[in-house]
Amino acid sequence: AKENGANNYIRYSKEITGHVLNRLELENDLRDALTNHSIMVYYQPKYNSQSNRMIGAEALARWQHPKYGYIPPNIFIRIAEESQLIIELEREIIKIVFGQIRRWLDEGNQVPRTSINLSSVQFYRDDLIPFLQEALEIYQISSEYIEFELTESIILKDRINVNERFDELIDMGFELSIDDFGTGYSSLSYLHKLAINRLKIDKSFIDDYHENGEVIATIISLAKQLKLNVIAEGVETKDQIDFLSDLSCYDIQGYYFSPPLPVSEYERKLQTLRLS
Ligand code: C2E
Ligand code: CA
Ligand code: CA
Ligand code: CA
Repeated sequence: AKENGANNYIRYSKEITGHVLNRLELENDLRDALTNHSIMVYYQPKYNSQSNRMIGAEALARWQHPKYGYIPPNIFIRIAEESQLIIELEREIIKIVFGQIRRWLDEGNQVPRTSINLSSVQFYRDDLIPFLQEALEIYQISSEYIEFELTESIILKDRINVNERFDELIDMGFELSIDDFGTGYSSLSYLHKLAINRLKIDKSFIDDYHENGEVIATIISLAKQLKLNVIAEGVETKDQIDFLSDLSCYDIQGYYFSPPLPVSEYERKLQTLRLS
């Protein structure tokens, strides 16, 4: 850990939480939160804009700090990644999601595919596959309910076994998507060699879709050529929906349809869900 003053404090966070947060303190508190199982999961529904139906959801980690209140994931995920806590944190998320899906199924709900974010540290761990096999066993759910979202940084690591790992996960029946697509520098030549199902167009392109029309169109046609599904994230307005519809992109995640929801609210949506 860095001993030097300023680096221990997280800049900008004061505006969000009203506190200057100490990195080492937060790291310790996050460790405690994992021990106490107080990390929670919110679910953000994904929709098809043609049918207006829910087609899936993304599981997003939430941490209510005992003293500072809501800490944004961008802050605590970064701390977790810098301290190896990310491994435990993501395992916790996986167990929570698998357990909740099991319960929803037991209660007779239709459950759409749920995606979980995986860091590159986790992705490359030797024990990832056995961990997932065991978790599927324990919670007695099928892998078809689960998708993993991986960022392009996984490909950038350029590890020799990147293809193997994609294959192993696909062979287990999981779906895989490349998150924040377009923000990294993954070479297109690499993309077609990987067993993936879906590209997620990053929110930053959608935010300024007027300026990024070409990029968005390119990503969508690339996905089409590679026979991949494509979903846009961070969609907030009808104009963005219309723009994406013109490019035949109908899978949508964003506030336009729904923000991430606490479990109780998400469950209410599940109870009305009829999967097509
Ligand atoms: P992400 O994976 O790109 O997740 C989408 C983020 O965009 C979420 O932020 C979501 O709340 C936000 N979002 C979705 N639609 C809209 C919209 O229409 N408008 C706006 N303004 N925001 C929208 P969140 O939950 O704060 O998470 C931030 C990031 O933290 C995630 O970005 C992901 O990189 C990371 N993260 C969250 N949970 C996990 C996790 O369990 N594991 C890992 N490795 N990373 C996670
Ligand atoms: Ca994601
Ligand atoms: Ca994303
Ligand atoms: Ca993002």
